[in-house]
Amino acid sequence: MANIREQKFRKLKKFRTTGSVFVFIIVSSLIIVGLAGMTSIFFYYVIDSKVSNAYSKIEYMAELYETSGYGENADIMSLLNKEENTYIIVDKDDKILTEHGKNTCDLERQQAVNIKYAKMDDPELAAQMQQLDKDLKEMDSDEDYDERVEMAVSGLMADTIIYPDKENGLVFADTDGDITLDLKGLKDELAKHHYGLSNQYSTKENNIELPFWLPIDLDNNTRFIGKAYLTLNLKDTGSFIAMAIFLSIMVLVIVIVIFSNMIKNHKNRKKMNEIFFMDEVTGKNNWMWFISNSERELKKRANSYNKYAVLDIVFVNYRNFCVCHSVEDGEKMLCRVNDVIEKNLAKKEMVAHYASANFVAMLKYTDRDRLEERVKALISELEKIDNDHKFTFHVGIYRIGECLDAKGKAVKRKNINIDHAYNNACTARATLADNDDSAIALFDEEMVKEKKWIDWVTERQQKAVDDGEFLVYYQPKYNPNTGKLSGAEALIRWRSPDNGDMIPPGKFIPIFEKSGFITHIDHYMISHVAADQKKWIDEGFECVPVSVNVSRAHFIESDLAEQIRDMVDEAGAPRELIEIELTESAFFDDKNAMIKTIKKLKEYGFKVSMDDFGAGYSSLNSLKEMPLDVLKLDADFFRNDEGDGRGQIVVSEAIRLAKNLNMLTVAEGVEQKEQVEFLASQGCDMIQGYYYARPMPKEEYKERIASGFASN
Ligand code: C2E
Ligand code: CA
Ligand code: CA
Repeated sequence: MANIREQKFRKLKKFRTTGSVFVFIIVSSLIIVGLAGMTSIFFYYVIDSKVSNAYSKIEYMAELYETSGYGENADIMSLLNKEENTYIIVDKDDKILTEHGKNTCDLERQQAVNIKYAKMDDPELAAQMQQLDKDLKEMDSDEDYDERVEMAVSGLMADTIIYPDKENGLVFADTDGDITLDLKGLKDELAKHHYGLSNQYSTKENNIELPFWLPIDLDNNTRFIGKAYLTLNLKDTGSFIAMAIFLSIMVLVIVIVIFSNMIKNHKNRKKMNEIFFMDEVTGKNNWMWFISNSERELKKRANSYNKYAVLDIVFVNYRNFCVCHSVEDGEKMLCRVNDVIEKNLAKKEMVAHYASANFVAMLKYTDRDRLEERVKALISELEKIDNDHKFTFHVGIYRIGECLDAKGKAVKRKNINIDHAYNNACTARATLADNDDSAIALFDEEMVKEKKWIDWVTERQQKAVDDGEFLVYYQPKYNPNTGKLSGAEALIRWRSPDNGDMIPPGKFIPIFEKSGFITHIDHYMISHVAADQKKWIDEGFECVPVSVNVSRAHFIESDLAEQIRDMVDEAGAPRELIEIELTESAFFDDKNAMIKTIKKLKEYGFKVSMDDFGAGYSSLNSLKEMPLDVLKLDADFFRNDEGDGRGQIVVSEAIRLAKNLNMLTVAEGVEQKEQVEFLASQGCDMIQGYYYARPMPKEEYKERIASGFASN
């Protein structure tokens, strides 16, 4: 169950918004980074290939020049010059040897390749360039700006010197000589993220040409410096723009899709939560909600001073109310119960409808007495939820603050299992089952022991019967005047190999009575006693009547008298040697059935006695109606004698009453000589007590029959 619940909780957690927001942020970032990356790669690829082309062209021109034998072959030179090529040839001191086309090469600034622009001679230009660089960095907000520009000319060889173009272009390098190319006028375009788009530099229509000078070292210690262009045409620009728009739309669409999904998810989660945590009867919190919230609360407040108690609150009359009215009306009452409990809660306390007529609540408390007072006040409010009825409520309380684990150590609050806590509260509440009024029961560890014991007994009961683990003990009854053995009571004992000691009936008979197994025990006892009697008679002993206890639970069987008769007959024992002991309480269950059975038993020849007379609620009325043979005065008469003579008066009157009703009397639980003497003087017929003998195994009892008289 708990596992299934955990699975459900896990599934529900998938709907949590925090997760979706996190995923949304991650996915969106990935998409944006990916798209930006793709754009850059596209851009670099275009620039890179263009610069490479420019370099190849200059290289080709230098080759032509070399092939011409450094200008000596006029044919080749005319070929070089025919095209609109612009170049200069310089010696090692940068002195111009030859030039063709408009020479705008800033040869003097060749050194500038290796120095920062800050050191430029022209302070105005330096300041302008500094500003330009600053603006570029700010506008682009891309820290890798330098690197990117470097990449833009990566088609150039590493040791290539680039001369700035006096009119249009400027080239810079860092102190290591690494090129950080910049082109005047590029600023505005970079700002627009469309690198190099400026009509200012357009030499041909729709084209942007950014000139710069590339030197190629020649073998004869001279340099061929050709003018190259980085040409960006409209097609490139268009692609950039289209690409940028396309990618932006893509990002937007994806972001919108994810976002709307998130909103949908959030709504679904809310709905799911409602369904998952709503009780279908009260429309308020259900058990799932309670588990989830109470455990969270306990973990959160693990170190707080407050202790917590889990309550099982049962509306006892619920089923009856539904029968008399309707289930709908009953459910309305449950809603009211929920409301009243809810109204009485303090902060961080909670309630939920568990099932049927059960509610679970968690309250804070500081000491046990105040907690009980509070619950009592709650009950009295609950009892009055309907003006026409007074309802009954049973409350089981489990105090989390004081719970111990199996080793007797205090359980840490964060380790508390609410299922377990509620189960304990229910266990405590179950002890109130027979209580007709509202009541409270606090759970204690004894209850656990008791439950375990009940389990142990129930598990082994049948096997114990089959294996003969139940023994019949006999406790003799003696005539106090003559000391003669006059009867005995058969009392059960359980010798279990699993338990070691002999288990007294008080520890298992009440369990059997509740479970109904007692009827098997009663049969077992009657047939064994009858068999023993038969055997002893056959052995020549003078047997006395032996009484057998028959549980009140047995009296609902209408053929009980016949069952007993058949069992005794089957064993072959004389019926008058078997006496049936019943308790008066059975009389209150079903008076008529009991009277009927007694009459039949007597008719069949059995003796019938009333056990425990004087214990609990005795009714003289029952004596009037029941034709009994023997009255057994309960041990309580003798145990609680205050010595003021009143007890003796009651006993002597009871004996007198029995005599007048033609009943024999047996005094139970007599331990002292004075009691025996008193009872003898009052005409009590028999005494069954430790004074004469304790219950004993049948072999020992056989010796008692043989002797026939008490030894004291
Ligand atoms: P009970 O029927 O009232 O049995 C008398 C109990 O009083 C016995 O306890 C007996 O040992 C005890 N007793 C007798 N004389 C004295 C005395 O002088 N002092 C003290 N302190 N105790 C004395 P036991 O055998 O433990 O049985 C307890 C109860 O268990 C019985 O009370 C009876 O209600 C139930 N029981 C025992 N055997 C059976 C059985 O075979 N069937 C059924 N249905 N119930 C049984
Ligand atoms: Ca008895
Ligand atoms: Ca008794």
